[in-house]
Amino acid sequence: MPVRVGIFGYGTIGKRVADAVLKFSDEFELVGVVKPTPDYEAEIAVSKGIKVYTYSDKLKDFEKLGIPVAGTAEELLDKVDVVIDATPGKVGKEMKEKYYAPRGKPAIFQGGEKADVADVSFNALANYDRAVGAKYIRVVSCNTTGICRLLASFLLHGLKIRKVRVYLVRRGADPKEHKRGPINDVVPDPVTVPSHHGPDVKTVIPEINIVTMAVAVPVTLMHLHMVNIEFETNVTREDIIRMLEETPRIMLVPTGKRMDSIAQLIEWARDIGRYRNDIMENCIFEGSITVVDGNDVYLSMAIHQESIVIPENIDALRAMFKLADKWTSIEKTDKVLGLITSGKKYKF
Ligand code: NAD
Repeated sequence: MPVRVGIFGYGTIGKRVADAVLKFSDEFELVGVVKPTPDYEAEIAVSKGIKVYTYSDKLKDFEKLGIPVAGTAEELLDKVDVVIDATPGKVGKEMKEKYYAPRGKPAIFQGGEKADVADVSFNALANYDRAVGAKYIRVVSCNTTGICRLLASFLLHGLKIRKVRVYLVRRGADPKEHKRGPINDVVPDPVTVPSHHGPDVKTVIPEINIVTMAVAVPVTLMHLHMVNIEFETNVTREDIIRMLEETPRIMLVPTGKRMDSIAQLIEWARDIGRYRNDIMENCIFEGSITVVDGNDVYLSMAIHQESIVIPENIDALRAMFKLADKWTSIEKTDKVLGLITSGKKYKF
């Protein structure tokens, strides 16, 4: 019997998680999604055969626009084994208290929630095993996921990290967010140091020495991280490239093929026919990888905020229900979702 899944929140993350869950019908059944608003996204969900549920005080709004509803949020909860919460940041905690916990439903939350919403903050490469059998799991944010994957690559290869410094250029808004900015500014976001990303990475990899700073810019495409990692021992550029090449979900972007910016990466994703131009892999610009003084490594990587956490949501489901071990889960997720790094030979 597949695990029955309900998704609360059908926005940027929720709709991608829904599409992903549908691809693993041998393990999971998408029973439905909860949407408070009757809009074009609800209509598209229905057109894809996804059952839309809403809150009882919103039923009339859906009826007025002629968008069919399968039932109330409570009715969906009665039918599922687990909730994936993809509501806006901080709403998930309220939903847990009001809806999920009183009905004893396990839940997977997203990175906009504080770490204490869940038993474990999750990144598949870094700490899959900690989430096995957990009732509440938080898949960390897009930026934190990107950093955790990168650090996990080196830790899994046995390198010891002395310290990490990451300077994040954050996209100002997602493409659909017409009311967010900045539109003509570079905003220290936050102005204080460290930005929340460093402490968030520590919720997954507690022992790491990391400091992060961030600015937001007028871009909707991707984030760009400028990373500096100091290792305990010397490494070569070739070592670093080999380790990254061996790591799932990490893609090296070649130099000299006009893929030297986030706009070009997104165009590449469009041209190769990626649905919604999603790039679920960390994109590391190979030309940026530089070793200074033997153990000090620099690189730049782009993170597609809308899609990078989707594989982790699928792995979190498997970990919660003990359906597969870490590497089996990662391998299956990546193959079915069509990640370019799928089929890599791991040597960890
Ligand atoms: P979003 O605003 O695109 O989608 C959230 C959806 O939830 C909206 O459609 C909203 O109408 C709906 N909603 C609001 N309250 C609800 C409720 N009580 N019940 C059901 N639905 C409700 O937001 P998003 O970008 O998808 O973010 C969702 C979560 O994922 C947040 O925690 C966010 O921090 C995290 N996240 C976002 C990104 C990103 O870049 N967009 C990346 C990684 C993680």
